[in-house]
Amino acid sequence: MGAGVLSGSAADPSEAPEGFHRVGGALHVDGVPLATIAGAVQTPAYVYAASTIRARYTRLARAFADVPHRIHFAVKANSNLAVLALLRELGAGVDIVSGGELYRAQQAGFGGRDVVFSGVGKTSDEIAQALDGGVLLINVESEAELTAIDAVAASRGVVAPIAIRVNPEVTVDTPHAYIKTGEKGGKFGIPRDDVTRLIEVATTLPHVTLRGLGMHLGSQIGNADPLRDALPRLVHLLGVARAAGHDIRYMDVGGGLSVPYAPGDVDADVEDYAALVRAAQAETRLALVLEPGRFLVAEAGVLLTTVLYRKHANGKDFVVTDAGMNDLIRPSLYQAYHAIEAVEAAPSRITADIVGPICESGDFFAKDRSVDDVPAGGLLVLRTAGAYGFSMASNYNSRPRAAEVLVDGDRYAVVRHRETLDDLVRLERPHPDWRTA
Ligand SMILES: *Cc1c(COP(=O)(O)O)cnc(C)c1O
Repeated sequence: MGAGVLSGSAADPSEAPEGFHRVGGALHVDGVPLATIAGAVQTPAYVYAASTIRARYTRLARAFADVPHRIHFAVKANSNLAVLALLRELGAGVDIVSGGELYRAQQAGFGGRDVVFSGVGKTSDEIAQALDGGVLLINVESEAELTAIDAVAASRGVVAPIAIRVNPEVTVDTPHAYIKTGEKGGKFGIPRDDVTRLIEVATTLPHVTLRGLGMHLGSQIGNADPLRDALPRLVHLLGVARAAGHDIRYMDVGGGLSVPYAPGDVDADVEDYAALVRAAQAETRLALVLEPGRFLVAEAGVLLTTVLYRKHANGKDFVVTDAGMNDLIRPSLYQAYHAIEAVEAAPSRITADIVGPICESGDFFAKDRSVDDVPAGGLLVLRTAGAYGFSMASNYNSRPRAAEVLVDGDRYAVVRHRETLDDLVRLERPHPDWRTA
């Protein structure tokens, strides 16, 4: 379902297809044609389907319905305030990695108790901001950070609730090395052999209270093997922390659930994942913290772009789009695959390189890809762009960042305006305001 022609019973809203689907060849999001959005807000634009975010959230929440848990959305995957507010309404908390993300979460209506603060390099200012905001947990990634948190908490006369991020040192199979985070030798977490000592250090610090242990193995984890190896290590260390007298309440299993990008990719087996995590939870009886990012939002988004030019050179076809690597860097950075489709059904296909306008050879979305044959002026979408899309966008080549649009049923709203030329230079001064050293 969800693809093909709308049937005669479409008057019943419960029958209207949700998410991305075609009506008479034209790609729609819920009840809105993508061509309508392109006409109204121009391109490039990110378009998100609220219905897909709801469906993904509900699917994960159902799998954990009968155990104490909270889904803390990893804000770095998609930090748009409207997306955050939607997830908050669904019951999510957030997992943040910077003071900027904390500010965004607060602007979207999250309270301190909704927030878990992760990340390997928190500044004293960010730690202070988190303590003032009353976050649920600060996930500690080094001994030096632990003492820094203690010092900042002391200066503010509070006790910081912390969790230790364990690096369980398992072998993680991800599509790109840059998205592994739970392997030996990486910068993330406390090596598992050092955790016991850090638990002891925490005991001696008066301004921290150890409330949990966590881990995050990486992103796009294709199967359950790393988790199967890592969970017993986490459970064991939780026992160590409790035996040391800490009032442990949380077991944070991180994010990393995969989504299908390319034909033949399989979706994460949520039930299998939940069964493993729940078995570990049953041993500890702690409240689970889940930190999915990509899983909740990737498939809910597309990058909508116009074909600027068709070009034929050295026996090769090129499709030049108005979106570039500054808008969506995943193909360049991770050799990531994004499906590319015409917005209005195209009669034929070609094999081409789909490239952006940026002055970098790395600015491509696909190479030698069989794609819909769309002429200049036609619209394309890059699918599965709702995670690590806009949130990684930049102004490289002095390109204003794209608009973001949220669709819900038969309505749509611009939830981030396209940047203007003035936005590009607003913080700069052509005539420096010199200060004397
Ligand atoms: C990035 C990140 C996540 C989310 O990862 P996904 O692959 O998007 O699910 C969760 N936890 C931490 C600590 C992260 O850094």
